[in-house]
Amino acid sequence: MTLPRVICCDLDGVIWRGDEPIPGGDVAVAQLRAAGFRVAFMTNNSSGRVADYVDKLAGMGIPADPDDVITSAQAAAALLADTASPGARVHMLAGPGVAEALTAEGFELVADAPAEAVVVGFSRDFDFDRLARAADIVRAGARLVATNTDPTYPAAHGLLPGAGSLVAAVSTASGATPEVAGKPAPPTVALVRARLGNEGIVIGDRPSTDGALAAALGWPFGLVLSGIAGTQNEEAIPDPRPAFVAADIASIVPQLITARD
Ligand SMILES: [Mg+2]
Repeated sequence: MTLPRVICCDLDGVIWRGDEPIPGGDVAVAQLRAAGFRVAFMTNNSSGRVADYVDKLAGMGIPADPDDVITSAQAAAALLADTASPGARVHMLAGPGVAEALTAEGFELVADAPAEAVVVGFSRDFDFDRLARAADIVRAGARLVATNTDPTYPAAHGLLPGAGSLVAAVSTASGATPEVAGKPAPPTVALVRARLGNEGIVIGDRPSTDGALAAALGWPFGLVLSGIAGTQNEEAIPDPRPAFVAADIASIVPQLITARD
C-alpha cells in the first residue's frame, strides 16, 4: 500500500487527555514529519481558540501552524457562512473557539432573540439559565446548530459530558433538531478537503466520529486505543478493523512508516 502524505490527527484521546499529554505523542509527530508526512490536527472540541490549541501543542513539544489546526467551531461557522445571511445575529452557548470562528465569519454575537442561529458547543460554563435562554431563542425562530455531538469527552481521569450531552439538553428543551457541523458531518468533510487536500489518513480514538470522517473522505483510518475506543470501552473496535489499529499514536507510527511506500 502506498499511503498519502497528509495526516489529519485528532487531539483529545490521541495527543492528550485533558491537560495531560499522552506519552510519546511529541516524538511520534516528529517522526511522522521526518518521514515526509504533513501532520495537521482536527478536533471536534470547539471550546478553544486556534491559538489555544497551537499553544497547548507547543507546550507538549509539538509545533503547529494555525493553518494546521481545524476545529468544529470553524466547521459550525462555515456551515452558517454557507447558509445564513451575512452578518446575521447568532447566539452561542459554547466556548471562546466558537466566538472566534463566528466573529471571523462576520456574524454578530447576540445575547437575546431574535437570532438566526444558536450555536451549542462544549462549555464548562453551561448551566440552567444558559440552557433556558438558548432554548427560548430557538423557540423564537433560531436554527439550532451543534458544533458536534460527541456524547463524552476523554479527560485526564475518565470521561466528561461532551458537547452532544449539552446539545441534547437544548434540543429537548426547544424541540428543535440540531444541524451538526463537526466530524463526520459534511461541513467538516468540506473543511478538511479545503485545508488538507483530497488525499490523506485520519488518526483518531473514536470510530463513530474519526472513523466515520475517514469513511466520508474515502481516506484510511488509523484507530488509537488511548481514548474512547479500547480502554474506556465506550466504543468497540470496528469490524472490519480499520486500516491501522494501535495502542497509541507512538505505536501507530511504525505501521504508517512501513506502509508509506
Ligand atoms: Mg478524540
